[in-house]
Amino acid sequence: MLTHALTATRSIKPAVSVAARLSLRSFGRGYASSSNEYDVVVVGGGPGGYVAAIKASQLGLKTACVEGRGKLGGTCLNVGCIPSKSLLHNSHLYHQAVHDFKKRGIEVGEVKINLPQMLGQKDKSVKGLTGGIESLFKKNKTDYVKGWGKIVSPTEVSVDGADGNNTTLKTKNIIIATGSEVSPFPGVEIDEEVIVSSTGALNLQKVPEKMIVIGGGVIGLELGSVWGRLGAEVTTVEYMDAIGAGMDADLAKGFQKTLQKQGMKFKLSTKVVSAKKNASGKVDVVVESAKGGNQESFEVDVVLVAIGRRPLTKGLGLEEVGVKVDNKGRVVTDPEFKTNVEGIRAIGDVITGPMLAHKAEEEGIAAVEYIAGGHGHVNYGAIPSVIYTYPEVAWVGKTEAELKAAGVKYKVGGFPFMANSRAKTMDDYDGSIKIISDAETDRILGAHIMGPNAGEMIAEAVIAIEYGASSEDIARTCHAHPTLSEAFKEACMAVYSKPIHF
Ligand SMILES: Cc1cc2nc3c(=O)[nH]c(=O)nc-3n(C[C@H](O)[C@H](O)[C@H](O)COP(=O)(O)OP(=O)(O)OC[C@H]3O[C@@H](n4cnc5c(N)ncnc54)[C@H](O)[C@@H]3O)c2cc1C
Repeated sequence: MLTHALTATRSIKPAVSVAARLSLRSFGRGYASSSNEYDVVVVGGGPGGYVAAIKASQLGLKTACVEGRGKLGGTCLNVGCIPSKSLLHNSHLYHQAVHDFKKRGIEVGEVKINLPQMLGQKDKSVKGLTGGIESLFKKNKTDYVKGWGKIVSPTEVSVDGADGNNTTLKTKNIIIATGSEVSPFPGVEIDEEVIVSSTGALNLQKVPEKMIVIGGGVIGLELGSVWGRLGAEVTTVEYMDAIGAGMDADLAKGFQKTLQKQGMKFKLSTKVVSAKKNASGKVDVVVESAKGGNQESFEVDVVLVAIGRRPLTKGLGLEEVGVKVDNKGRVVTDPEFKTNVEGIRAIGDVITGPMLAHKAEEEGIAAVEYIAGGHGHVNYGAIPSVIYTYPEVAWVGKTEAELKAAGVKYKVGGFPFMANSRAKTMDDYDGSIKIISDAETDRILGAHIMGPNAGEMIAEAVIAIEYGASSEDIARTCHAHPTLSEAFKEACMAVYSKPIHF
């Protein structure tokens, strides 16, 4: 019943009036006076930092953003989300042209990779977007201070400028948004040529014949897919017994099978013992069972170390000013992103939570809204994750395993893309959708999708969770035909009643 479902809907925050209130309050505050005096100094120009800086300027706060790498956009734009998605997109097109076009009635001549061109295309997207942020800074009157920042007191950031000069910025508020860096693998030396991190893997000058990826998480699977599609024989070595960094167990199994069909090999419950460059310029890799024993050796052209990232606070002056970090080096914050030192807040990869660009952005906006008007909003239960492989995998909210562990009673419904008309017309129907809702209220608790365009479709699930929708609410909402999103509606129908087309 729709009415029953609506009672499960939580009250919605008045987003518009909060925004209006914030700008009114900050308007009254005015700019800090002298050119080196700010209301907010953000250290780090990644998605958390640059978004926070723009928002602060929009709310009438005099703002500077300090960035040391010479380009705005942080990990995400320079060596993360953006270059990887460019390579994923173009390698997919290549793979389709070679393996898929013919059966669709498209005959082309010999298809060849022009790797420098593909890498150039990636660099072009990075350049366009990083430059775009500079324009946004100008538009919003945000000062971009080029150089490495160090917090010297709760109201001062000293910047070693790219021009060799040192400047001290005085400020009422500091936001730490220094992000993260690649976690090293003990005993394995990354040279960014044959033993590479994600950064090197975005810029290989030759398609390797054989590649080992250490780590079956998001970054390893995405970059492994890129080089696999371009012709490398890719083996992913994962310590855990499943791939996909905590994704729903059913989805992870199906996903692994799909990647295997595409030619990716997996060694699960396996650890890398050593990886060393040999005399012929290749890499000798020794792996063994996670429990020990059963060693195997390989010689490969490239090893990608993708075991995760760690917070970056080097040289930031945290110890000197007394900002607390936890045992993983993450800056400790309260729900308003305040550190233990008055006037200093932190957001993004450098604090706890999933290391995702959109999470960092949400926190950046919320932290500034707390500064400007005392209110901010991040719903950690509604932060989507996406793996941009083919097909894509996307999820939000709880997995069945999490709900079981928490003793929450739930219902599950699913729908395969095989039964979706649009997916059939596209001849692209590997995957399915699984929706989990509360057994009593029917409120959607989790959505797990593997299939074409999953990364776009997950937005519907995020909105459903954010607004407390039930599966029946979505099932009774008209979806255009023929679209992939009808599969989402049908999965919701499967939770509260029955799907029509399966
Ligand atoms: C290969 C790869 C693919 C990824 N793909 C995705 C994806 O598809 N979707 C997604 O959501 N996330 C993805 N991520 C993760 C995403 O990039 C990060 O979660 C996001 O960039 C974090 O934003 P941030 O602002 O907290 O930090 P960062 O983006 O790391 O930015 C921090 C910035 O601070 C600067 N800085 C550090 N210290 C100082 C200092 N003392 N002074 C001045 N500047 C300083 C750094 O130079 C950096 O530019 C990916 C990451 C990688 C590596």
